[in-house]
Amino acid sequence: PFKDRSDRGTVNVQVLLRCRPLCDDEIRNNDPYVVHCDEERSEVIVSSKLFDRTFTFDRVYGPETEQKDLYDESIANIVNDVLEGFNCTIFAYGQTGTGKTYTMEGLLRNSKDAEELPAGAGIIPRALQQIYNALESQRMDYSMKATYLEIYNEEITDLLAPDENLFSPSPRKPSLVLMEDGKGGVMVRGLEEELVFSEKQIFGLLERGSSKRRTAETLLNKQSNRSHSIFSIILHMRDANLVSEELIKCGRLNLVDLAGSENILRSGAREERAREAGEINKSLLTLGRVISSLAEHSGHVPYRDSKLTRLLRESLGGKTKTCIIATIAPSLRCLEETLSTLDYAYRAK
Ligand code: ADP
Ligand code: MG
Repeated sequence: PFKDRSDRGTVNVQVLLRCRPLCDDEIRNNDPYVVHCDEERSEVIVSSKLFDRTFTFDRVYGPETEQKDLYDESIANIVNDVLEGFNCTIFAYGQTGTGKTYTMEGLLRNSKDAEELPAGAGIIPRALQQIYNALESQRMDYSMKATYLEIYNEEITDLLAPDENLFSPSPRKPSLVLMEDGKGGVMVRGLEEELVFSEKQIFGLLERGSSKRRTAETLLNKQSNRSHSIFSIILHMRDANLVSEELIKCGRLNLVDLAGSENILRSGAREERAREAGEINKSLLTLGRVISSLAEHSGHVPYRDSKLTRLLRESLGGKTKTCIIATIAPSLRCLEETLSTLDYAYRAK
């Protein structure tokens, strides 16, 4: 159910809301439930002593939602559009600990030899599987490539590059450079593009990238909740029945696990952290402005104001589709952040 707001061009922005279950700690502390999800009406009702507020989204997924159900209902059709040559981006936005990584990545496998995806598998493994199966079952000549990068404090790291530098990290290790590609887009110089040729290998590279993200975190004292990660799948397709070389479709899917949206400044962080927090908020705020100016067709779209939006520029205008999954927690302790996430996501609609 994309809303097509196009008078000029196509800008499709869909906003989904997902609320996770109470976590063990919240249950132990008898933290009250303050969020009610009405999936039928696509509404979230936040109740506190002082007020009730209701927010409406394109779809609302309550704490009971299985990974597969969210995927089949809201994501599979986007992935089909990628196979039709669209450029699509899916963002997970929300406070740290509300399920962004669970939603995007989830569990990657149950046991070594299992053929099936585990029930906890998130959007990235499911999308990879859907795309791979579709390409293999059609009479298509195709190439499928993947990139995986991280933006931390406005610096870009390649999560698929061989990590020889990782164990002797110099604090000034240059980050990858964003360059204009001369065709109106941007590219990341030297970014590893891995050609995908088997299903097994896809999951291998996903695991490699994710574990590199975690290793870099510990070694470089990073915090994953302050970095954005972007997993991209790039497709070139040609109908194998046709002789003409020219009938090529290109599709692209960006799967973005955004930095935690919490306001670190408010929790009394020190200077360096505050600076980092500033950078993150800058990207998140710029992203919000970009999405709303696209949706409103207002003249100036401030892509250039952050690396994240510069990088995704070609995926956020023109023949593209955008889906934002806002994640929240149901507990009273998260109330303030929940309201700020709901406001942000609602504005993006
Ligand atoms: P984030 O990436 O937003 O910081 P995580 O994805 O790491 O949050 O989730 C925090 C914790 O909550 C993890 O232990 C995760 O498994 C759990 N969790 C998040 N969302 C769900 C959900 N919908 N169902 C079950 N567990 C969840
Ligand atoms: Mg995370």
